[in-house]
Amino acid sequence: KLHNTILELKGNIRVFCRVRPSLPDDARADTQVVTYPSSLESLGRGIDVMQNAGQKYPFTFDKVFSHDASQQDVFVEISQLVQSALDGYKVCIFAYGQTGSGKTYTMMGRPEAPELKGLIPRSLEQIFQASQVLMSQGWKYKMQASMLEIYNETIRDLLSPNRSSSCESSNAPGKQYNIKHDANGNTHVTDLTVVDVSSIAEISSLLRQAAQSRSVGKTQMNEQSSRSHFVFTLRIYGVNEGTEQQLQGVLNLIDLAGSERLSRSGATGDRLKETQAINKSLSCLADVIFALGKKEDHVPFRNSKLTYLLQPCLGGDSKTLMFVNVSPDPSSVGESLCSLKFAARVN
Ligand code: ADP
Ligand code: MG
Repeated sequence: KLHNTILELKGNIRVFCRVRPSLPDDARADTQVVTYPSSLESLGRGIDVMQNAGQKYPFTFDKVFSHDASQQDVFVEISQLVQSALDGYKVCIFAYGQTGSGKTYTMMGRPEAPELKGLIPRSLEQIFQASQVLMSQGWKYKMQASMLEIYNETIRDLLSPNRSSSCESSNAPGKQYNIKHDANGNTHVTDLTVVDVSSIAEISSLLRQAAQSRSVGKTQMNEQSSRSHFVFTLRIYGVNEGTEQQLQGVLNLIDLAGSERLSRSGATGDRLKETQAINKSLSCLADVIFALGKKEDHVPFRNSKLTYLLQPCLGGDSKTLMFVNVSPDPSSVGESLCSLKFAARVN
């Protein structure tokens, strides 16, 4: 209930911050770069970033997860949002942050142990479990999954059966991935593979296939996965055989491209083009969320592939959550501040 109250107050957009633990490769520093204010009103919601061991920048979000938050701690806070996709809502959950800040850890997690699973597998497990319960109350569901990435403003199908590993674009030849919205607010991407799913095992195997497709691109294109947006979409069509009630929900889970700025990546040539495409689409996303939050008449959805693709799931009574992932690495403090400022803007 509290969750719904927050959403109503905040115009359906929330921002959570998550700080990853320090890693052995992080730079050493005498003082902590990231600290958490202990004042009561910002408890669990505040984060302070210290730059040059002097200037302190405070931020407040809907929730702040420190380095010791487990995957389960994080999932507890989003499970109701995930559940609302089963109730017919359109939901988007994004992970934003520089490369190495923990976006993929948050979204996918790590395969070594069940407790390290991220919110994509946890969300899907919850949806299948909850739908089992609802099926005993007369509901029938059809669910469809698709997975794509957007690289340099081009859509790539990660579930294409004939995705060729030798082809530059890694897309099957002759495929056109055009985004179309119909009058009912449904999105269709031409030629995109959409798979009917009815179990967590099916989805898991699709997620593995998508990861495989991404890593093929990676060796060809320089760690390309950190330079593309990964979009997982689950469409849920429900009908109650007793009451004839119908609903359509959508769950979009998005691992965004790394937000690091140009100067740091020292980009030239293709790299420069990539970085510009990423910066453009991330700033478009911020513009869209900002305009929606301010209830502005014109929302610039069409300015990037990502925002156009997600248009029906970002406006109206849809629900959006953005994770801003932050690294505590002292050598990343500039990037961390940029990420937090970005998130503060949409919050
Ligand atoms: P990104 O996707 O933003 O580039 P990753 O998710 O790959 O970043 O995280 C970078 C490294 O940090 C990985 O080795 C990952 O396992 C680790 N990591 C990130 N977040 C956490 C966390 N909350 N707890 C433990 N390890 C983490
Ligand atoms: Mg990643």
